[in-house]
Amino acid sequence: MSTAFCSRCATPMAATLLGGREREQCPACGFVAWRNPAPVGLAVIEHAGQLVLIRRREPPLAGYWAPPAGYVECGESVPQAVVREAREECGLDIALDGLIGIYSQADVEVLILAYRARSIGGRLSAGDDASEVKLFAPGRSPPQAPPDGGTVTDQWFFGVIEDTIAQWRPAPAPV
Ligand SMILES: [Zn+2]
Repeated sequence: MSTAFCSRCATPMAATLLGGREREQCPACGFVAWRNPAPVGLAVIEHAGQLVLIRRREPPLAGYWAPPAGYVECGESVPQAVVREAREECGLDIALDGLIGIYSQADVEVLILAYRARSIGGRLSAGDDASEVKLFAPGRSPPQAPPDGGTVTDQWFFGVIEDTIAQWRPAPAPV
């Protein structure tokens, strides 16, 4: 991912050694194209005592079952992004019950913040980047093979999906 022209003054960017690393810098105005991993929010959602998974329509891992997830946009917090993505991909309104974990790897250009969540409204329906949505009973999530080949991101994301699903337990029924 190389920036061809300066986003500030449109001068062609040049590779420059900065802080011990090669970075794209504008020779005219000094603008540096910092490359940072993009934050993605993910929701492990419980609905009616079961786990909500969507079948992904888009890469990475198109065709795989995964918790709803998507990029955080400017103008929203990470939790707000997670709530929005859940609504878009599986039709449910959710409340977040805390962070499961932060997933990050040096050679992957996103980082995933995974939240535990439960449905509080809406109607289960696949939308946006999901081709299908289904409920899975505890311990009955679909067996999936790791991607055969694929990119580093594919392999890493597969591990994140497996790990977040494996950690899910239904909340105890209210007394
Ligand atoms: Zn410039």
